[in-house]
Amino acid sequence: MTETMLARRERLMGPNVPTFYDEPVHIVRGEGVWLWDADGKRYLDCYNNVPHVGHCHPKVVEAISRQASTLNTHTRYLHGGILDYIDRLTGMIGHDLTQMILVCTGSEANDIALRMAQAMTGKIGIIATDNTYHGNTLATSHLSTRRPPIGGYPAHVRLVPAPDTVRPIGGTLEGQAQAFADSIAQAIRELEDTGIGFSGMMLCPAFANEGLPALEPGFFDPAEKVIRDAGGLILCDEVQPGFGRLGSHLWGHERLGFTPDVVTVGKPMANGHPVAGVLARPDIMSAFRTAFGYFNTFGGNPVSCVAAMATLDVLEEEGLQQDALETGAYALDRLKAIEHPLKAEARGLGLFFGLEFVLDDGSPATDFAAQVVEEMRRRGVLLNRIGRHMNTLKMRPPLPFNREHADLAIDTLEEALKVVPHE
Ligand code: PMP
Repeated sequence: MTETMLARRERLMGPNVPTFYDEPVHIVRGEGVWLWDADGKRYLDCYNNVPHVGHCHPKVVEAISRQASTLNTHTRYLHGGILDYIDRLTGMIGHDLTQMILVCTGSEANDIALRMAQAMTGKIGIIATDNTYHGNTLATSHLSTRRPPIGGYPAHVRLVPAPDTVRPIGGTLEGQAQAFADSIAQAIRELEDTGIGFSGMMLCPAFANEGLPALEPGFFDPAEKVIRDAGGLILCDEVQPGFGRLGSHLWGHERLGFTPDVVTVGKPMANGHPVAGVLARPDIMSAFRTAFGYFNTFGGNPVSCVAAMATLDVLEEEGLQQDALETGAYALDRLKAIEHPLKAEARGLGLFFGLEFVLDDGSPATDFAAQVVEEMRRRGVLLNRIGRHMNTLKMRPPLPFNREHADLAIDTLEEALKVVPHE
């Protein structure tokens, strides 16, 4: 079955279409934190952040179906849904980010954020980390470092070393925040020396794709100062950490404690319906709209808005951020208690965890981590890997993930770690 479907995908979609696992899973149904494949096998979903309030949450499904059977249009008619949503979300973010554009993907949102920085500064130089992902448009793909662009990175893009708590930049954990700021300062000097100029920095405030390093609040302070002193904008990509996943805070930047000029949101925002957005101060929004104008056929359509609104309703009504905090702390304690010769670090923020493995000589245990992921899949638990060397297990379940789910996942992990060879 899977074989046939894989072959058909290649015939119809072309080669190299990403799938997870040696034997990709053919999922046919989801509910809460559970997924079922075509053979009826049930999996505990420890990976997907898109179904934020749980797969197929009835309240979100009902909202979508009600609105879809009433009206869905492109976005050039007047419609209250988009206004109500923006009113509500801007009230949840602060920093005078009182205006918003709704789009369909995080990539589009980040593309707009980059252009906002250009419109405000009149410059195009942009900084990101050297081990990240901000999207698949041409501009954002230059800040997505898994595959270098054809022709190399454009001169206006500077990539600085990503923070890392197993191999800190500059060699020490204590010095890492300053080392990060220094590399940003150096990149800004280079952009200015070449006459390109500096428009801003885009970053994920949990450095999620970088490997979710265990950084203390305040880590970004020295970098924030460097960027501000140079007149650049801070473009904060909350596509992964946003909407309460971190438990302690609704947004990743709140946890680190810095002030963004622009925030982008996406993935979990509408529980699987394709909705994303860019929040900005009015001065930035006006500079952007004046310089570029903007229209997005589907962005903020009536169905998208009710899906996003219902997701916020469930988040609040079911207290899921608080659950993320409590279950997250419980699960992190258990991950920290795991004993294994290759374990380097267990880290986590709310319901987002990284478990890093290194070999005896300190090199990344990439193959080992890959095998653990496969073994977990065989045992009915879906997770994956992150980080520069993909040697960190990544767990980022839907928020209704409770203690029993955490116990099941971690008991299974302990069993898997016993059988995957490590010598
Ligand atoms: N930013 C970050 C941090 C992401 O992880 C992703 C997707 N993985 C994106 C942006 C792009 O979002 P989308 O796939 O919705 O375009």
